[in-house]
Amino acid sequence: MKQDQTYLARDDLQSLLDALKAGGFQCVGPQVRDGVIRYAGLEQAAQLPWGVTQSQAPGEYRLHETDDTDRCFAWANGPQALKPIVFAPRETLWQATQSADGSLGFSDDVPDVAPLAVIGVRPCDIAALYIHDQHFLQQDYRDPYYLQRRQDLLLVAVNCTHPAATCFCASTGDGPRASYGYDIALTELEAGYLVEVHSEQGRAICAQLPLQPASHAYTQAVEAAMQQAADSQQRRLPAGNLKGPLFANLEHPHWEEVAARCLSCGNCTAVCPTCFCHSEADEVRLDGQHTEHYRQWDSCFTQGHSYIHGLTVRPQTTQRYRQWLTHKLGSWHDQYGRSGCTGCGRCITWCPVGIDLTEEAAVICGDSPAS
Ligand code: SF4
Ligand code: SF4
Repeated sequence: MKQDQTYLARDDLQSLLDALKAGGFQCVGPQVRDGVIRYAGLEQAAQLPWGVTQSQAPGEYRLHETDDTDRCFAWANGPQALKPIVFAPRETLWQATQSADGSLGFSDDVPDVAPLAVIGVRPCDIAALYIHDQHFLQQDYRDPYYLQRRQDLLLVAVNCTHPAATCFCASTGDGPRASYGYDIALTELEAGYLVEVHSEQGRAICAQLPLQPASHAYTQAVEAAMQQAADSQQRRLPAGNLKGPLFANLEHPHWEEVAARCLSCGNCTAVCPTCFCHSEADEVRLDGQHTEHYRQWDSCFTQGHSYIHGLTVRPQTTQRYRQWLTHKLGSWHDQYGRSGCTGCGRCITWCPVGIDLTEEAAVICGDSPAS
């Protein structure tokens, strides 16, 4: 048994929520809402998606009820990662108001954020969060809006025992088992959870739980489940840094073939846990005395995203898809030391025409029979 591995019986799962709440955390966890699994305020373990699984395929996502009502994490992911929790889809950054004497006053809108525990975070989304940390926090200018939401975040990871058909985290090295970045990790077994702690905060919470020693049988069951989850993944990204092959193939005819199917809708960038592009604008009240400066998620698939000084640099879908893939899998390495893809598969599932970046990258990089 590894140090810090213990076991929590399924009937004691509520004790984890109680300990988090007693520790001052609000909790969110996965729940069924509007036909998908997404994060929502979590008070009771009974609110988790017990007996629910999913099927995913290019352009397809369905939830199914199963007979196995003893499991609440028997699915891979929904459309939402941690991104909207730390990087708001739209938020006011600052406001300006003109007083009666004509002077202007400015105020920032950095949010007050209570400590938040997120239950059920998948390993691919932890990897994406660490990419966002690099982007928002480790450069000269730290983003105070992101920082406020990030600094008191406690992560209860869940290792993936039921990857979707669109998952390929094993090939990017980001799953199906969490290896860093979490406070507490759970692996769901038949009648309970193998519990691993990875931070002092996680250890303090776990000290309040009715944990039992993790038997050899439990740890072996987890090892087998993780191996099976990795082996079950059929998709993969071509190995290594793809910047060279992608940039050597900027005129490959396959860009046009993908663009003929692509709707330039931006769904892929909205659901991608690592995409961070946004636009900023001012909203001025009709009285002319108050303005709000806001930012909202944008996408490299929109016309406006590449508009510069009277010219749209990427007017065609071909150029936009190429921009997305060459940045995500290529030049991202220069910026963040790794690719921008953590293998979550969301852009495949939520693309309305089922475009699959693993297939497109393989063809363009010459890693496929179709190339
Ligand atoms: S690849 Fe799919 S999801 Fe992305 S913009 Fe094109 S049609 Fe939309
Ligand atoms: S590019 Fe697609 S598979 Fe990779 S992290 Fe983004 S949404 Fe997930």
